This record gives sequence, C-alpha cells and structure tokens, in this order.
Amino acid sequence: MRRETPESAEIELDGRRCVDFCSNDYLGLAAHPQVVEAFIDAARMHGVGARASHLVTGHQALHEALERELAAFTGRERAIVFSTGYMANLGLARALARREDAVYGDELNHASLIDGGRLSGAKLHRYPHVDVAALEQQLAAQESGTALVLTDGVFSMDGELAPLPALAAACSRHAAYLAVDDAHGLGVIGETGRGSLEQFGLTPTQVPALVGTFGKAFGTFGAFVAGSEDLIETLIQRARTYIYTTALPPAVAAATRAALAVSIAEPWRRERVLALTRRFRELATAAGIKLGPSETPIQPILLGSAEAAMRASNALLERGFFVAAIRPPTVPADTSRLRITLSTAHRDAEVEGLVAALADVVSPE
Ligand SMILES: *Cc1c(COP(=O)(O)O)cnc(C)c1O
Repeated sequence: MRRETPESAEIELDGRRCVDFCSNDYLGLAAHPQVVEAFIDAARMHGVGARASHLVTGHQALHEALERELAAFTGRERAIVFSTGYMANLGLARALARREDAVYGDELNHASLIDGGRLSGAKLHRYPHVDVAALEQQLAAQESGTALVLTDGVFSMDGELAPLPALAAACSRHAAYLAVDDAHGLGVIGETGRGSLEQFGLTPTQVPALVGTFGKAFGTFGAFVAGSEDLIETLIQRARTYIYTTALPPAVAAATRAALAVSIAEPWRRERVLALTRRFRELATAAGIKLGPSETPIQPILLGSAEAAMRASNALLERGFFVAAIRPPTVPADTSRLRITLSTAHRDAEVEGLVAALADVVSPE
C-alpha cells in the first residue's frame, strides 16, 4: 500500500488506485510537509532511535518539549509520553490499580483498556455499553479498595461519544477515579479540537486522567497521558510499559510537536473533516443508507454478518474505495460493519463517489 501524493487519501492497493476511507489520519497530517520536515531534521540531528528507555538516557529535550506542549494543549499540570497508546493504557491501569482494587470498563472499550484492566491484577468489571446506571450499581457493590473507571471518549468502532458528564458524576458520587482514552476525539472534536472533554466542558478534577494517541488525528505514532503532577509521578514510578521499554524515537516526538502545532494553527482542518462528515451523512441518508448516531468522522454502517461486511467491502474496492470490514472479535457477533472514516484529505467528489457506490452495494434488499 503506498500513498501517491502527500495530503491525498489515494492509495495503491495490489497495483490499483483507490481512495482510502479507513485511515485514522483525520486531519491529513501524516504526510503534511511540516510534519515530515520536522521528522527528517530531527532524525538528522539525533539519529533514528532513542537508544535507551526514558529513565536511563532515552528521555531527551524533544520529549520534554512535547510533554510541556501536551500539558498546555490539554490544560493539565503535566503529561508523559508513551511509545504507543496500547502501552499507555496498560501502564496506566497497572499503575493505578492493584490486586485489592477494582477496574470498571465499558464493554465496547478499546482492547488496550480491556487488557490494561486485566493485566492490572485488580478485579475487572465490564459494564454494558454506555450504561451509567449499571456502572453505578457495580460501584455501589464494591466493598474495599479503590475504583478505577476506564472509558473511550469516542468509541473507536462506533464513533459515538461516551456519556462523560454522567460518568464523571457517577465517579464523583462513588469516589472512583475516571480515566478517559480520547484517541479519536483529540484534535477533532470540541470547540478548539481539545477533544471530548472540551466538547462536554469537563475539568481535570472531573476527569483526572486523559489518554491521547499520536497515531490518529496527529498522524504520527505514540501516545501520552496528561494529568496532575502526582499522577505523572506515579506513572513514572509504576507504569511498567513506560519504564521497561525503549523511549519513543525523538524524531517522532519532533514530528508530533509539528503536527500538534499545525492542528492548532490550522483549525480549518478540523472544520473541514467535520463538514465532510455532515456532508457524508446528508448524502447517505438521502440515498436511504442507514447510519448510526455518530457525529464524528467515524461512520459505521452495520451489516450484521461477517460475510455481508466482507462482500460489501470487496464490492467497494471494485469501485475504487477502500473501506475495511470490521468483524468479530473486534466488534460483537452480528454487528459486523463497514467502518468508514473521513479525513481532511478527502475531496468532496471522493465522498460523493463513495456514497454513490454505497448506495449500489448496501442498499436495503
Ligand atoms: C488506536 C487506539 C489505541 C492504541 O493506540 P496505539 O498508539 O495505536 O497503540 C488506544 N485506544 C484507542 C481508543 C484507540 O483507538
């Protein structure tokens, strides 16, 4: 698979050109010239690898600078970078919950939050999707230990927002600690792109831990946790996926700084992907295609069986559109789907073409 031109959503797949409707490069930053330049310059200056873990000599000035900028961006005291979002979530859960504690997670949480809860050694409770009342019953039944609640901010396979104000209120009533993984919200939603917490106007007191990833809207690689001084110190001391792994390459930190700066300086990128999302929804609805409630660039079309989703995905590819079929175990049985993601890099005509193709491929029988 090869990108034909920077800031285009065209890829070449098995020798044929098609439009990519399944990347998470929402703002079109993965191949942005400033981001690429920052990466190359930093690699020339500092080399490709970080050479060691953060606590030895791997943590460099570029990581420090990125962490300061992330703390400012998220309005929190401090931030810490991890090498991936998967590792950030494993490290966070393990650092905050011990055997005598309990971890609660939405049943549709990203796999890394579920695995984080499992590996923490604490008792793991999964509550029915966005069911805050069910979560509260579980919290009320906990007899001892601390309670850690983990949720996606934007659910990665559905595109819908978690009911964060209600979750924060429930956590406050039960003295539970709330951590939100906003991998798909940061850079995209909220008045100024600060993600789902900004969208709902939630403070660091209500949501003490915020996880973000760089591989989605920021177009690079890696992740971070933002929170209080105390939280970040705890992670440095206890997050095993921070301590026992090679630091993020400094050039990736440099590229991420550039991507963050571009995302702030060019709000039109966010406005454009959201406008394209609205356009897609209008056109698809007019064409009789059934959509979910998502208002984010993640637009799933539920088809039920894995076979139906695969057939639709293949038929779209024939028409020049690459849309992944998402099947169990990534999603629950009988909810196989096409997961369409929109990007600033898409042209209007590409979105129109996709809807026309979808109308052929998935119209009700
Ligand atoms: C992609 C994603 C992750 C994992 O991030 P990586 O940096 O790719 O490991 C974690 N949480 C959510 C919600 C994600 O969508």
